[in-house]
Amino acid sequence: MPTTKIVFHDAYLTDYPTASVEKPERVEVIHRELSAHSYSFVTARPADERDLLLVHYPNLVQSEKRDRDRYDVALLAAGGSILAAEIAMDGVPAFGLVRPPGHHASPGTNWGFCFFNNMALAIQRLILKKRIERAVILDIDLHFGDGTDNYFMGRSDVSVVNVQSSNRLEFLAHCQDGLTRAAPYDIIGVSAGFDRYIKDWGSTLLTEDFKAIGQMVKEFSQQNCSGRRFALLEGGYYLPDLGLNARNLIEGME
Ligand SMILES: [Zn+2]
Repeated sequence: MPTTKIVFHDAYLTDYPTASVEKPERVEVIHRELSAHSYSFVTARPADERDLLLVHYPNLVQSEKRDRDRYDVALLAAGGSILAAEIAMDGVPAFGLVRPPGHHASPGTNWGFCFFNNMALAIQRLILKKRIERAVILDIDLHFGDGTDNYFMGRSDVSVVNVQSSNRLEFLAHCQDGLTRAAPYDIIGVSAGFDRYIKDWGSTLLTEDFKAIGQMVKEFSQQNCSGRRFALLEGGYYLPDLGLNARNLIEGME
């Protein structure tokens, strides 16, 4: 029986206005794969609007409210991400099967199918509540996580490791190096994009590589931060293998 808690909400299947590739089926295929492998699900709760303001400027939050349906789902994605990080604080691995993604959301601007920065919110909230002092974020998405990078820029307490290489073995080596340089820390969060998969836009990583990355995250968390580790869904658009790839990352982290 897998021990990883999968944070989910049926509302993530909402067909809100966004780019056509960022479709509800993305979380649906992952949900199906994890259900078939006996994972246990935890229901996400919406974030408090005050939580959004930990990272975002009030005018961004206000402008997102103009599309109420999408705003409500984005609030649930932020809340689910906060919950995944809280579960990880007990040493239980967690995966936020959330939608919309977040790593292209900066404090005052957003793009790339992202509205609020789920990862930045989850980490910053733990810091402000004094539950952690230091964190590392490993972003393995094909696209540079500019929102997360912008928010934590200049901070010595949060290391953001954005891995960018189109060479498979080099990519894996950079994941390992980035984590080594980041230590010590109190929790690790993975911005889990699967769009660098060999059959997705990035044409780089194999399914087994996601498992290997998960294993690196697990080992480092056990050596450095009492096993506190979680991941949040970012990109990934090749639907036939998206569930398999997500399961492999999760199995590696378990
Ligand atoms: Zn991406």
